[in-house]
Amino acid sequence: MPSYDPNNIFAKILRGELPAYKVYEDDRTLAFLDIMPQATGHTLVIPKAPARNMLDAAPDDLAYVVKIAQKIAKTAMSVFAADGLTLIQFNEPAAGQTVYHLHVHVIPRKEGVPLRPHGTYKEEPSVLADQAAKLAAALKSA
Ligand code: AMP
Repeated sequence: MPSYDPNNIFAKILRGELPAYKVYEDDRTLAFLDIMPQATGHTLVIPKAPARNMLDAAPDDLAYVVKIAQKIAKTAMSVFAADGLTLIQFNEPAAGQTVYHLHVHVIPRKEGVPLRPHGTYKEEPSVLADQAAKLAAALKSA
């Protein structure tokens, strides 16, 4: 497996070199909306510690990312009036990974609405900004 590349997009977001629709941050994780959501409220949770994916992540970092994914999942269910929740995490190109910094996809689901295919639909910035503000506000009081 290749080593961690500190110039990946999510590392740049962590360093503040690229913008993101942030919804949650603490000392070990950052969460922000996926700009190509597979459903409304599609959020990515990443560790601040460098890891290419779950295969090279420190177990404690991985566990903490999942803990925060659960917090975001519960809040997103309410904010986006979801009926269910899909968690996805890809490891290496063969599995569909395209950004090589560990991330967990938290995707609110509506009954009967299929997921859009991965990476096919780019959401309007104004829609993402509005959704991020609502989810961030709800997470502050969660
Ligand atoms: P994957 O590595 O296959 O899990 O997919 C990476 C995900 O990151 C895709 O769903 C992309 O839509 C998403 N993505 C790529 N660039 C950005 C970005 N700058 N901000 C938010 N999401 C992004």
